[in-house]
Amino acid sequence: MVKQLVASALLAFITFSSQAATYAVKADDFGRGDITAWENFFRELEPMGVKIYVGVVLEDLRNNPEALNMFNYLKRNPNIRFFYHGHTHDCGVDETGRKFGEFIAPLSEQEALLADGKAWLAEAGETTFIFNAPCGASDKRTAAALENTGYDVWFYPKKDRDDLFTGCKVRYTAKVENPTFTPNFESFGQQFKYIEKKGGEHLLQVHAGAWGGAKLEEFVRIIRSMQHHSASFGWVCEGA
Ligand SMILES: [Zn+2]
Repeated sequence: MVKQLVASALLAFITFSSQAATYAVKADDFGRGDITAWENFFRELEPMGVKIYVGVVLEDLRNNPEALNMFNYLKRNPNIRFFYHGHTHDCGVDETGRKFGEFIAPLSEQEALLADGKAWLAEAGETTFIFNAPCGASDKRTAAALENTGYDVWFYPKKDRDDLFTGCKVRYTAKVENPTFTPNFESFGQQFKYIEKKGGEHLLQVHAGAWGGAKLEEFVRIIRSMQHHSASFGWVCEGA
């Protein structure tokens, strides 16, 4: 009995310690923001070998020749994948306190947007179709719209409402920007210790197009420190 207990405790320990955390960067709002800030971001990150998911705001990108040029360059980079992040990024909270967005809408409207986004991703060479709603704003119809249009992965901000989606879901709970738009070495360091123990897949959500030099430096400092502590960077939902 004692032997069995020791064996199972050991097994639990091995299982626990082999479940290393995996991290990828989730860079939102490509197509808008300062093109130089984007350029600096990719130039700094490229030699670091981390995996980056780039969220495209489709209407913005289509109307932004500089960003389109950069996109054509980036799509050859094996450490970069694109996901669909809405057409207009029109989202937020209205004066009555109600959330609004492109994906708080009738099913057919959401499906039309998602189908267009998916066709664009396919054209860009993506074979895994990933969605993340602008502002994280979705409603109870979004899961069905994603199912009906054949998305594989949903980057999802909360726990509720996602159980109807049968693809792979990853929540972006590791807050590397705190407050949003500002990378924060100190506050991320506290979470990092906890996440490393817990394991699982984690997305580091950033808004690099809104950063000036000091914010980029802070983010690079975070990634360097993670690499120094042997953090593992990789794609999430592999096999999805
Ligand atoms: Zn966004």
